[in-house]
Amino acid sequence: MSGLLAGLLTLAAGQFVFPGPGYNRTLVDNRDRDSVCLYWGMESITYHQAGGTGVTAEQLQAVRRSWQTWNDEFARCGNLALQEGSPTTDRRVGYDPDATDNLNVVLFRTRDCDDAGVVPGNSDPNDRGSIYDCWDYGDTVIALTTNTYRPSSGFVLDSDIEMNAAGFEFRVCPATGCSCPIGSGNCNIADVENTMTHEVGHVVGLDHVFDNQDSTMAASAEPGETLKRSLDLPSRQFVCDVYPQGRPSQACRVTPVKQELGTIAPGCSAGTGAPGLVALAALVRLLGRRRRS
Ligand SMILES: [Zn+2]
Repeated sequence: MSGLLAGLLTLAAGQFVFPGPGYNRTLVDNRDRDSVCLYWGMESITYHQAGGTGVTAEQLQAVRRSWQTWNDEFARCGNLALQEGSPTTDRRVGYDPDATDNLNVVLFRTRDCDDAGVVPGNSDPNDRGSIYDCWDYGDTVIALTTNTYRPSSGFVLDSDIEMNAAGFEFRVCPATGCSCPIGSGNCNIADVENTMTHEVGHVVGLDHVFDNQDSTMAASAEPGETLKRSLDLPSRQFVCDVYPQGRPSQACRVTPVKQELGTIAPGCSAGTGAPGLVALAALVRLLGRRRRS
């Protein structure tokens, strides 16, 4: 169960990132050097927990700790407040420009869209996850954050996190992590807080890092890992640089593009077997499908 090389392979395929010291900002189009970065221009982000079938209070609390970890950093040197709103039954991800109730939701999908009987055979392949409340991103991806933004500015309008509880056993591990049962083969244990802390990094505009497997934003996680629960120094620096306290949040490019909405969803994968290629396939497919205008 080794980590993935998805990031390296993605770069080799000709994509770019906008680097800071040890962190990478998410670009609207990471194949375009002139793309703008994603970031929040408002003063607070409110998230709502939608839980999922069988999700425990302990797991919801672990989600809360992850957001709090980032909020603590923003309180130290940032300009955003991350706060929890009331629980919701809304299990849709993405953004409806005609709606007034676009929540930033955090939820666990407990069924896989590809399992028999979950999705009717003649259904539209778009938005199956939201319509049928199922995980639609393959079984090597642990969790996925979907950001909707304005391509002209990179302003994020909405951010939703889905956890793949259909493919992974989400646990609240001890601080030292969970270990897989001996002889368990394909161990699929994922620590809730480890996963969520990484995903909230995507919410605030961080992309994966490719040269530091110990980073909060490394693209893969070992089974039962808890390393990503805490923010590495570059991720903390990102908060200070991009969301400076008492000053406006910082764009990375000022290149007007188009006015419509865009959606981007980085996939975060776990290693199983020969991991790199599997994860890359998942990532590319996700970006292609989830980006829409
Ligand atoms: Zn990720």
